[in-house]
Amino acid sequence: MNYQQILNEIKSELSSIHYTGKVASYIPELAKIKPDKFGMHLHCINSGHYNFGDHIERFSIQSISKVFALTMAMSLLDDELFKRVDVEPSGDPFNSLVQLEYENGIPRNPFINAGALVISDILISLLKEPKKDFLNFIHEITGNTDIDINPKVFLSEKSYSYRNAALLNLMKSFGNIKNDIETVLDFYIYQCSIAMSCKELSTAFMIYANGGKRLFDNEQILSSRKVKRINAIMQTCGFYDEAGEFSYRVGLPGKSGVGGGIVAVHPGQYAVAVWSPPLNPKGNSELGMHALERLTTLTGLSIF
Ligand code: GLU
Repeated sequence: MNYQQILNEIKSELSSIHYTGKVASYIPELAKIKPDKFGMHLHCINSGHYNFGDHIERFSIQSISKVFALTMAMSLLDDELFKRVDVEPSGDPFNSLVQLEYENGIPRNPFINAGALVISDILISLLKEPKKDFLNFIHEITGNTDIDINPKVFLSEKSYSYRNAALLNLMKSFGNIKNDIETVLDFYIYQCSIAMSCKELSTAFMIYANGGKRLFDNEQILSSRKVKRINAIMQTCGFYDEAGEFSYRVGLPGKSGVGGGIVAVHPGQYAVAVWSPPLNPKGNSELGMHALERLTTLTGLSIF
């Protein structure tokens, strides 16, 4: 299959689409990103790299970081973890408080903000140097030690984090947050402010496509049992209250972030990342979803 030709076709098809989405502005620093940034990077297990556009420019990974955080927490705690966070789709917006009220402070899944904040709390309790260890994990799975946070995005979100503080306070009232709220918020915002390119993200997500092994040296990072579980959570919960729509249109496990990135995997075949900042009303990259829908349609390679 000529993947580069397929990617070129996707690029030319999408350049004629007039997007209606808006760049995220509730984190002021993200609002400064040019809406016409657009890049895609496909990393195939058997045949290497294909790409177009702004695929080597770094952007704010935001909620995509929740997959790395879950991976680290599962390595440290395994099933114990799921006493404090569930694995059900929420059907509510990513930052919603409502379900916590009647589910005793147990978030529906690790990929909505409430769930990711519980995971942050767990990592803070179990890691010696949470920020350093988190960044090191990303360095380990990408083989790239200069990946770092964007300090401007970090400070920008810190000054507008009332909603996440509310989630933490509510969960703390139920006893599901053990550390102090400022510490958890600080670590959570840190992980969200990491900047990576589509190329780097497709390398990082290769562990989920390649049975838990890094592709570049075949090192086993994660058991295949954990890979199965993380991919299942990405499939059912990776796209806020649009996980069903993504599954239906694209047919891959994946995770999006409000920075406009989406990463998806086809186990045994490839990892793919796309970046286009304007978000649809559910908070997912509008063109990113289109691009991935065209990829699985034109290649015939979705998991279904
Ligand atoms: N840091 C963002 C927040 O908590 C992440 C949101 C996202 O990408 O879904 O609001």
